[in-house]
Order: sequence, then structure tokens, then C-alpha cells
Amino acid sequence: MKCCRLLLHQIVLSYGAIHPCCSHTISKTNSQLMVNYYGQLLDIDKYVANRKVQVDAFNEGRIPDCFINCPLYEISNNSSDKVCFEIINVSNRTNCNCNCIYCDLRDKGDQSKKEELNKRKPYDIHPVLIDIQNKNLISNNCAFFVGGGEISEYPPEEIEWLLLFALENNCRLELMSSGIKYSQAIEKVLTIADINLKISPDAGTKQTYEKIKRVKAFNIVWENLKKYIKSAKNNSKAVIEIKYVLIPGINDNIDEINAFLSKCKSINAKNIVIDVEHYWLYEENKKIPDSLIKAVTYFEDLRINSKEFNVNYIQVGKEFLKGLIK
Ligand code: SF4
Ligand code: SF4
Repeated sequence: MKCCRLLLHQIVLSYGAIHPCCSHTISKTNSQLMVNYYGQLLDIDKYVANRKVQVDAFNEGRIPDCFINCPLYEISNNSSDKVCFEIINVSNRTNCNCNCIYCDLRDKGDQSKKEELNKRKPYDIHPVLIDIQNKNLISNNCAFFVGGGEISEYPPEEIEWLLLFALENNCRLELMSSGIKYSQAIEKVLTIADINLKISPDAGTKQTYEKIKRVKAFNIVWENLKKYIKSAKNNSKAVIEIKYVLIPGINDNIDEINAFLSKCKSINAKNIVIDVEHYWLYEENKKIPDSLIKAVTYFEDLRINSKEFNVNYIQVGKEFLKGLIK
């Protein structure tokens, strides 16, 4: 077993901990590298020492603690253990204007947890990132994720600062948004930057959207998507992906998928990404409904044959979903 690329080259600046990856939010892997983390400057020696426990396990062919149930493992081609980040993920905020039934942060929709997450005061990310920059820890063409909470809920001056920081450091931007609130700052970078923006309506009808998202924002999300797509149209480095998280029994039916595709068509959206609900994916002894098999097969047919859409799978559920295709 070779060492994991994310362990060596990614940093996720979460609230309460620094992680090498997001696997803990998906399948509850044990991957934190720094605990009790609330915006302290990065102590490189301590960081490397903590990371060494897992790195040594990989190098010695053992199974590191973090690897058990890991859905995101990537083999590293660059095994240098010098600290230089190829991926930086800023996740110091936890508030969000959406309320998805599958939210990784929300313990299956526990509403008291949502309130707590929405009220939490974030730590100041500015000195942390400036310190990382001053220590020359950012690799060229580093991917810069703004992971959470919801980017459009950040104070406008903070989004602008983060996006500018990424661009000044030659990073590729990787943004995710609920799409509920339109961001002028995102619009601006869509016209000029190397950027991937993902928005996940998961539905083609208002009724299903509201069941999954538990907010009344179906129309506004599609309107905002349309505006973002229009802004990016002259920038070949901007990719906007519309995500469809398959949720067995809720949106894994062909009518809903067709309604979703019509919405995509109506706003000139080309890029679709498929995922499957993560809590369901990691459930033991789950039954796989025929509806899910049909839905994945339908998307796969589109992936192969469509001239209109580029269809892709998200890494986490990819292997599982492809295994269902008839
Ligand atoms: S093996 Fe998995 S859990 Fe461990 S660092 Fe890599 S991606 Fe994260
Ligand atoms: S948009 Fe993301 S952070 Fe917000 S509730 Fe949905 S899954 Fe959670």
C-alpha cells in the first residue's frame, strides 16, 4: 500500500480540528491531525509528528487507523513528506442557509444541531492562511476549496478576500454552494478564474426539492444557476456542475430525473455530477431498490450517449453506483 495523497498533501481547516481529508464527514474515519483547533497558526513540527503515525503505517504496509472505511483514499505519486499543500480546504464556518436531509454536518437532520451550527462563531481564517503562505506551504496550482458552511453566507468581504487569496497564490478554485443566495463575488471569479462551482438541487420538481432540502428555494436556485452559467460563458476555465445526489425512495425515479434534465436544458447547463446519499451508502445490510438501479442505469446511458450533457460520478459513490449498472 502506498501512502495516501490527501494525507501528505491536503489540509482541511475545520472547526475544532485539522484533518487531511473529508472522509470523517462521510464515513466517520478517524483522521484528525490536530485536535482542539480554533485558528492557531500551524505548528509544522507538531503537524508532521502527528501525521507521521499514519504515514509510517502506510509505509510499513499496515492499515492506518484513518484508512478503515475510507472512501477518499488516493495513492500518492509524490511520496515526499515535505509539507507542501496541493489542496487547501477552508471549513472554519458551519452555518448554512439550506437544510438537506443528508447533510454530513447535521447528524441526519437533528434540528438542534443545525441551530447550534448556524450560531457558531467561526475562528479568524486570515492569519492562518497568511501564515501558510509565508511559510511557502502552498504548491503551484493548488486546489483551493471553500468547504463550509455555505460560502454565500460568508461576510461579502471575507468571500472576496478568500477568492483573491486563492488567485494570488495561483490556486484553482473549488467552490460548493447551496445556490440559494446569489454571490457577486462568485460571479466575478466565474468570468476570469480557473474554477469549478458545484450546486446540488438534487431534483427537477419543487416538491422533491423541498422534501430533500427542507427549504423553499427551488426556483431561486435554478435562477441563480442560470445567472452563474451565463457569467461563465466566455471563460473556458470555469466549470459549473449541477449535482444530483440519488436518495433511494425519494428522487431515484425517471420522472424526477427527466424533470431535472429539462431544468438543466432550460438554463443551458452542460455538466451533471451524480452522487448517492452517503448515510445510506454506509448503512450495513441495506436493500438496494430496483428504482436506484434503474436511475443509475439511466444516468449511465446519458453519460455514454448524450451529446447535450457531460455526466460524471462523484468519487465517493462512483464504484458503488457503477457496480449497479445493468
Ligand atoms: S486514507 Fe482516507 S481517511 Fe486516511 S488520510 Fe487518506 S483519504 Fe483521509
Ligand atoms: S448545502 Fe451542504 S452544508 Fe448546507 S445543509 Fe446541504 S449538505 Fe449541509
